[in-house]
Amino acid sequence: MQAISVRQPWAFAIARGGKTVYNHPLPTAHRGPLLIHASMRVDLGSCDSPLIRSAGWDPRDPLATLGAVIALADLSDVCSAAARGEPCACGPWAEPSRHHWRLSGVRALPRPIVALGRMEPWQPPPSLVTSVHAMLATATAPRSR
Ligand SMILES: [Zn+2]
Repeated sequence: MQAISVRQPWAFAIARGGKTVYNHPLPTAHRGPLLIHASMRVDLGSCDSPLIRSAGWDPRDPLATLGAVIALADLSDVCSAAARGEPCACGPWAEPSRHHWRLSGVRALPRPIVALGRMEPWQPPPSLVTSVHAMLATATAPRSR
């Protein structure tokens, strides 16, 4: 498993708003589980953008937090067309001149898990992975009577 630290409100847009493309300067060979970590930095200028509004950005939402893991996604593919200056069909979240890390099966955590992030993609410690799996298992377990 790997993790990426994403500035708010973009991390929220992945967790809750259907943002299925993560724009990064570099490609990655990683495929599979990818933790979405909200970094300590906020992209204030984008909070009023139409895209972020369409994602239902809500500063009062627990997942609008900073410095915590807020979702688990599956990194299914990386599109490098835009990085080569070519058109692609990655949709409204894709930015020009970037590699498009395509996310699927995004599951928002029931509540954030505080963690230190990094600028570059990072390897989450086993204890963090265990916490995420435990939380998601609880969240999806059928309610007992
Ligand atoms: Zn693309």
